[in-house]
Amino acid sequence: MSEITDEQLLERYPGVRIEHDNKAFYRGLLNRTLLMDRCGDCAHWFHPPRPICPKCWSRNIQPTAVKGSGTIHLLIFLHQGPPAPGVSYDTPHPVATVELDEQPGLRFTSTIVGTPNEELAIGQRVRLGWVDRRTGADPKPVPVFERVDS
Ligand SMILES: [Zn+2]
Repeated sequence: MSEITDEQLLERYPGVRIEHDNKAFYRGLLNRTLLMDRCGDCAHWFHPPRPICPKCWSRNIQPTAVKGSGTIHLLIFLHQGPPAPGVSYDTPHPVATVELDEQPGLRFTSTIVGTPNEELAIGQRVRLGWVDRRTGADPKPVPVFERVDS
């Protein structure tokens, strides 16, 4: 983990509401690590970040790296959407909610790269990858998924 101060974190994510509960998540992205909250008492994973474990109400929350392997749970193709760096809607933009292997119900939503849309389907295995998307002065790592052939 590199040393990224709170001030640098805010500078890198203009327009994003960075707060105590999610700053570890965004700092992790800059380090190309997908962190999800895990309860230090009952080991339950959850996302998005929250100050209290939704299972046992503990405040002992530990942002923890996930392996990034999982299964496509939901899959949609956006024909239009908000302008985003590196995103074109000329070819419909795939958006997948992936159920991560760490725990049933632990899901993360992003795009899928490296596979033509018509070859994507719910139930396929994917793994986490990173692409750099430029907003402002410097590129930022963005977590994406890529198909793995099982
Ligand atoms: Zn808990």
